[in-house]
Amino acid sequence: MIVRRTVLSALGCLVLGACGPAGEDGSAARFPKDSTMARIRERGVLTVGIKFDLPLFGYKDPSTGWITGFDADIARMVAQDLTGSEHNIRFIETMPRNREDFLDRGVVDIVVATYSISDERRKLVDFTDPYYYSGQDVLVRNTDTDMRTVADLAGKAVCTGARSTPLERLKARLRHARLVVVDNYSECVSPLLEGRIDAISTDDSILLGLMSEHPDSLRLLGSPFGRESYGIGVRRGDSAFRGYLNGLIRRFLTDGGWDEVFRNTIGVMGVSPKTAKPTPSR
Ligand code: GLU
Repeated sequence: MIVRRTVLSALGCLVLGACGPAGEDGSAARFPKDSTMARIRERGVLTVGIKFDLPLFGYKDPSTGWITGFDADIARMVAQDLTGSEHNIRFIETMPRNREDFLDRGVVDIVVATYSISDERRKLVDFTDPYYYSGQDVLVRNTDTDMRTVADLAGKAVCTGARSTPLERLKARLRHARLVVVDNYSECVSPLLEGRIDAISTDDSILLGLMSEHPDSLRLLGSPFGRESYGIGVRRGDSAFRGYLNGLIRRFLTDGGWDEVFRNTIGVMGVSPKTAKPTPSR
């Protein structure tokens, strides 16, 4: 896969006629000198804001320190293209409360962190085209068989993430629920298993990851409401970098890369890629 991509990049370079001499890492130096892409290539490391606690999307394995998941694989694809190796990458844990700030201050080059594109956030950062579609859903205990749809959350204690788009949707839909708001979704899991709260509600991609660790105790309602479009976050105004990343996403969606990453991550939960895969932009 990686070999094929490198060849494709080189071909793209030839076709577009935008290649300079080969860089030291063997990849073509095809970026304008003062661009973010050139700076990252020069530095030799891509810094990435990602979640550390979401199995199947962005998860730091406690025994190896290795970051796994769909978001991690996208970030590695970017590192591969920019620096010639997917290993030239530094992952930094980000949460909803510092994603915009980390981009603004240059702590990270990109944020790939189940980060939904929204008009509100666009005032602070820019987003690439979507690379994944998720729907908001609800995770409950297996034994709570009378919970079927979001309407059954009325009067219940529901855990969700601070400063998240799902929190806003819950506020609009559930007048009578008690919302328990946390920084990291993994903080919701023990309270749910122990019966201190009744449900977790956020993106189904996140919920499936949490459920993957407790498949015998937790259940997804499976009636999604509202769509979340994940984009890669970049510093506001960096349209050249955004355009470059959009090109990579387009390629990822069309060359089989997306399908392979999906199969190896969130796809293991038996979900269909049909609703999750965006149509590549032109
Ligand atoms: N995708 C949603 C959002 O960006 C929920 C995930 C999160 O809080 O990071 O708000």
